[in-house]
Amino acid sequence: MNMDKIPEQCGVLIVLSGPSGAGKSSILSQVMKQRPNLCFSVSCTTRSPRPGEEHGKAYYFLEKEDFEARIAAGEFLEHACVHGNYYGTLKSEVTNRLLQNKDVVLDIDVQGAMILKKLCAEDPLLSRCAEFVFVSPPSMEILEKRLRGRGTETEEVILRRLANAKGEIDQLEEYSYLILNDELENAVTAFLAMYDTFKLSLKRWKGAVK
Ligand code: 5GP
Repeated sequence: MNMDKIPEQCGVLIVLSGPSGAGKSSILSQVMKQRPNLCFSVSCTTRSPRPGEEHGKAYYFLEKEDFEARIAAGEFLEHACVHGNYYGTLKSEVTNRLLQNKDVVLDIDVQGAMILKKLCAEDPLLSRCAEFVFVSPPSMEILEKRLRGRGTETEEVILRRLANAKGEIDQLEEYSYLILNDELENAVTAFLAMYDTFKLSLKRWKGAVK
């Protein structure tokens, strides 16, 4: 991202991961109603839209060739193959907003989050703007129930997502903040507390190093 110095007015970057069905989207839709400065980064994907998902809102739904052309053109901050499809974060969804003092939240998988962690490790100033947050379901049984309850996936997709969930939960310690989504309301409260505290700490730090 090459921000040589955190500008006085720079937003925070929240990187949110967790297994499919952990409830990230439900948490974010509640949180964003309450924190208008927080923008959702719309990702690109090659998976097909689910009923009700709009291009440009849930995702930018792309053909594989288009996605690969964008990789080659360097348009992604990170991208990964998740559950058999490409997913990626466009630089255009993130960088300018941060520089305009907007906060940005990414809902991305563990592979993508680790790519961003590496970027942060190379850039300590960026790392101060970024918080890595993991949403965990209370149990694998509840995760399975939630995935099946959606009624949008085939059995094959559900089984693949459940198998991947174990690997994702194993990487929990890579994150600096854990939200347990036992009840949506608790998870939303925990997210808001994390977000407000992080923003306040960053503001105080910027003030201290001026
Ligand atoms: P879903 O197909 O259920 O919308 O998303 C599947 C997984 O892909 C989720 O874990 C979600 O966090 C992840 N994902 C969504 N967008 C991106 C992205 O831009 N980059 C990466 N690495 N993962 C993403």
